[in-house]
Parts: sequence; C-alpha cells; structure tokens
Amino acid sequence: MTAINHNYTELQGSYLFSEIAKRRTKFVQENPNAEIISLGIGDVTRGLPEAVTKAMHAAVDELAVPGSFRGYGPEQGYDFLINAIIENDYKARGISIQTNEVFVSDGSKCDVGNIQEIFSENSIVAVQDPVYPVYVDTNVMAGRSGKFNKETNRYENIVYLECTAENNFTPSLPDRKVDIIYLCYPNNPTGMTLSKEELKKWVDYAKANNCIILYDSAYEAFIQEEDVPHSIYEIEGADEVAIEFRSFSKTAGFTGVRCAYTVVPRKLKGLDANGNEVLINDLWNRRHTTKFNGVSYVTQRGAEAIYSPEGKEQITALVDYYMTNARIIRDGLASIGLEVFGGVNAPYIWLKTPNGMDNWSFFDKLLSEANIVGTPGVGFGQSGQGYFRLTAFGSRENTEKAVERIRNLSL
Ligand code: PLP
Repeated sequence: MTAINHNYTELQGSYLFSEIAKRRTKFVQENPNAEIISLGIGDVTRGLPEAVTKAMHAAVDELAVPGSFRGYGPEQGYDFLINAIIENDYKARGISIQTNEVFVSDGSKCDVGNIQEIFSENSIVAVQDPVYPVYVDTNVMAGRSGKFNKETNRYENIVYLECTAENNFTPSLPDRKVDIIYLCYPNNPTGMTLSKEELKKWVDYAKANNCIILYDSAYEAFIQEEDVPHSIYEIEGADEVAIEFRSFSKTAGFTGVRCAYTVVPRKLKGLDANGNEVLINDLWNRRHTTKFNGVSYVTQRGAEAIYSPEGKEQITALVDYYMTNARIIRDGLASIGLEVFGGVNAPYIWLKTPNGMDNWSFFDKLLSEANIVGTPGVGFGQSGQGYFRLTAFGSRENTEKAVERIRNLSL
C-alpha cells in the first residue's frame, strides 16, 4: 500500500470539539425540553449587510451578459478589491502598501494554514498558548512539531509563548532562537490585544533575530480602543519582518461566503539553500498562482461593497451589535464576581473558571444548570487550563438570556 505522510499521525484528534458535541448530545437526549444556548461557536449569526448582497446580485446579473461575463480572474484578486483594501485598510491609516503585495483568498484559515509551506521544514515555530489550533496543526502536518508529549500537552519542537492572567496575556519574547512567530491580535481565544508599544517589541525582536512574524488580525474590525494597532505595519520596520492576514468573515458575515486577504510586503526576505536572499512575496505569489484559482467575481464585488459609504455604515452597525453582546457578557459575569478578560476589542470573552474549577466540570455545570454551551480553554492549549471561552456572536436575545442564567447559578 502507498505510504502516507507520517506527520499526520502526530496530529492530536479534535478531542475538544468532539467531546463538546458528545456531552451536548447526551444532555439533550436526557433533557429533550432544555433550551440550549450556544456561546461556544466562532460563527456569526447576523445576515450579510445589504450593500454586500446588492453588489453580489448586480455581479450575478453581469455574469449572465456575454460582454461582461468573467471567467478565471487574476489569482491574486481583482484590482477593484485590492485598491479598495489598500485605500481603506492601509492608506487611511498612513500605511503604504502596493497592489502586488495584497493576495485575495477564500479565507484566512487557508492562508494562515498554507503560508508555512514556503518556509524551511527545519524552521522553529513559536505560537501563543492558548492558540488558534490551525497554526499548530499545519506545522505538525509539515513535520516541524516533533512528537506530542501527553504529559505537557505540547509538541516537543514548538516554542509556546504563554499568555495567562499572570502576564496580562502579553507573551514574553522567545527564550531561544525561533524562525517563525505566529501572533494573533485581537486574540482568539482570549479576546486580548497588544498596545503599539508592546507590538513594537515584537517587530524589533524579529528584526534583530532574523525571524518572520505571521500576524493574524482576523478580528481587526472589532478594535474599539485608541492605542490598539489595527495593522502590524503601523509599526516602523514591520514591512521587513511581517506578513499580515485579514478576513471579511467576522467583519461582514462572510464566514459562509468566503473572502480574506494576505499582505506580503516586497521588503520581506528569506534565504535559499545557498544563502542568497529571496523575496517572500515572490514565493507566496508562486504558491498562490499554482494552487489557487482566485475568489469568485461575485464574492469580490460583495467584499468591495464593504468599503462603500453604505457598506461602512452597515459594517459598523454589525460590529456594534456583537460588541454590545460582548459588553453584556463581560459586565454580567463580572457583576457576579467572575474574572473576565477580552470582550473589549474582540468578540471573545475569556473567563477564569470560578474557584479553580477544572474546565470540564465548569462546562458540565454550565450545560446542566444553565443549558449553555461554551468552550473549555484547555482545548486551545495547556495555558488555557482553568479558563473558558464565550463568544459574542449569538443573537441579543440569547446573549441576554444566557447571562441571566449564569447570574442565577450558584458558583
Ligand atoms: N484566524 C483566526 C484567529 C480565527 O479565529 C479564524 C476563524 O475563526 C480564522 C483565522 C479563519 O477565518 P476565515 O473564515 O477567513 O477562514
């Protein structure tokens, strides 16, 4: 038989989500009348903004006309969308990005997952802990992780940057040489952010130590506070060391429509086997054009509409809706003495389980006594032990109901 990529055997099963589903199903079977509210999912619940659906309808009609029909488009994305991204997400913040530095794609999950393949298999990878699991698993598949240690709940060759209440969720710089650093801000799952000054430390570190930062800012649109950077390129010199990922998924309800983009600056360089400098942008362009055939025209017209005056207004309303949910959860839990983090610049609330309760006991208590499903923090890494994630993506009604039920629990 054909041998498989043996690295896949090092992957840990998606224990967390299957365990959540198992416990939920069992509870529902035993309590068929329970009205379960899920604050565990990372998917949005509001509809697409009207500006987006209008633009998509118009684009569909265009495609029916032979003269305006579009087939394969540029793999990197249409200029109309790339220009709107540059003007609104970068130029408006004083950041200069060129059109050949933006790559439109069908999602940040694919981009943050695929990007690692343009780097050496020997690269040492650092991730925040807790972490969005895609960064880790894609490096496991590529053979960079080493063995999984069940006792530490960690891979032996991955460098984990702990983010806990003790360091205010601000990780320390790595204590050994790393090549690739994944940073996610605003953070999933903790909902926390870095200030400009803190982010500058990472950029300076990457410059001084010849490493590359993979900066996932899928939740950028949720930033409310002044001192929180919207882009890593707000930091001088970041274009020499960082790749940035952005997604329309949470910003505009595109989780099912699928559209995102990645910025790979032309100043960013790596080394080939002979020690010659290579532009990372050229590599990503080669990878993207070889393995990807572009996002649909209709979707890109929908994404472009987000930047129209009506689109911007509707997006702001959407973000406000979820961030009001976040505030309701945060304030409600804090009012009963729970320690809560995040939820100010991100749609995630990260809470400390009360009285040191372990993750699964707290999960079971919430499910059985309040009929609420959340996500145990340990599913995002060892440093998530003792924490719990709730999301603000539910409806207002369910969010308010859920908070009321938690307030009535005896904790
Ligand atoms: N990055 C982070 C940190 C996320 O939480 C998610 C989705 O939950 C993604 C990327 C994926 O986004 P997309 O829908 O664009 O694939």
